[in-house]
Amino acid sequence: MPPIRILIVEDEVPISRLLETSLTQAGYQCTCAFDGPSCADLLETGGFDLVLLDIMLPGADGFELLPWARECGVPVIFITARADVKDRVRGLKLGAEDYITKPFSIEELLARVEVVLRRGHKLGSRLTYGPLTVDTEAHRVLRAGEEVELTAKEFDLLVLFLKNQGIALYRQTLYERVWHDPFEGDTRTVDLHVQRLRRKLGLEGRLAAVYKVGYRLLREEEP
Ligand code: CA
Repeated sequence: MPPIRILIVEDEVPISRLLETSLTQAGYQCTCAFDGPSCADLLETGGFDLVLLDIMLPGADGFELLPWARECGVPVIFITARADVKDRVRGLKLGAEDYITKPFSIEELLARVEVVLRRGHKLGSRLTYGPLTVDTEAHRVLRAGEEVELTAKEFDLLVLFLKNQGIALYRQTLYERVWHDPFEGDTRTVDLHVQRLRRKLGLEGRLAAVYKVGYRLLREEEP
């Protein structure tokens, strides 16, 4: 699966940097534009999956650029200042998918980006959990943007946990689903792999042992 490409159009450099760093760490490939005309040029070159678009920009404002993005089939999330309720409404009416209000939290930014991408079926094989991004097709795991090497069994085990968040899974189930062999009571293989997953991915507090059962990955929103 090719990387997801996001165009960031924001003329305030610190905000642009923050967006770029956060999104890159989450596994997205970012390009930055700092004014209207270069945004239009970049959109024309194609290949973007999403545009984060500031409204007040030198050269051409966000409202002028929005139809361009829509013509190119790229969904838009507006970046607006806190007070500009009118701008938000106008943006949504013009066809923006969503908006982020400055100042924003990274968690909110990532959540909104994910929702819009999912809506456009851009995420397909991608699972996320806190700082982890897992691409089930490419068999890649990123932790805060850094690639983590997992064995094939560790990877399958991780995906099983991610798809069953909050549910206690029996060692037997884990073994049979990941090793595709009948379980004959040897719990060490599963335990060993869980320990390695915890250590490699920093899941010590999240991947919990359940007495007499097996393991449970806490739901992402659980503290
Ligand atoms: Ca601006």
